[in-house]
Amino acid sequence: MAEKLAEKFAKWHGIDRTKIAWYPEIDPEKCIGCKLCFVSCGRGVYDFDLKENIAVVAHKYQCLVGCSTCATICPAGAISFPDRALIQKIEKEEKVLVRIQEIAKKKKAKIDIEKARKEAMDMLSKMKTSVKYEVVGHVFESALMKSIRDAIKDCKVDLVDIAVESPSLKGCWEQKAPSLTKFTVVSTEMEDITKCTEIIDKIIKKSGMVLISKE
Ligand code: SF4
Ligand code: SF4
Repeated sequence: MAEKLAEKFAKWHGIDRTKIAWYPEIDPEKCIGCKLCFVSCGRGVYDFDLKENIAVVAHKYQCLVGCSTCATICPAGAISFPDRALIQKIEKEEKVLVRIQEIAKKKKAKIDIEKARKEAMDMLSKMKTSVKYEVVGHVFESALMKSIRDAIKDCKVDLVDIAVESPSLKGCWEQKAPSLTKFTVVSTEMEDITKCTEIIDKIIKKSGMVLISKE
């Protein structure tokens, strides 16, 4: 039987969460029972089997789409996730379906689904719904992420694939070594996120960080 999801987990950017196969899988042969995943996931995805001394995925659709923190911290490499390309594929497909319905409604007649699909794909390929950033500088001191989060609170965008490459924590704080921060701004609701990325560009500039690539 399908898992009954609490309202806060039921949708991801308007998409039925159960349509997105993004959740962890545990290799029971590799799991050493350290419980790190169980205690660190704030969304109650894991349970722990005391008899077998292994973590188990109890509520897979409560996993945050795009998050893979537990796989990163698992000391045994026992947790795996699907390829991230899956998320982009679903976003695109969902938009295509909405577009097909719009086109069909406009034409108010029997339409060739393949033709409508092609039209929808053409439209989508012209839209800018995802932008990758790379910035260098003192990301912790600049509070860049907090400033961006505050600024995009009312925008229908989110940041995914956030990665900070730092030489060391002490190096950053005490020897002022810069870090490389990467993230992607995405939206599954807006057709063009240029206005939101312009806001983010201004914040980066104000933070003192250096924008080295944006694509
Ligand atoms: S973090 Fe890894 S090794 Fe530890 S309980 Fe979870 S799956 Fe098992
Ligand atoms: S990826 Fe994140 S949300 Fe999903 S189970 Fe792991 S820690 Fe929890």
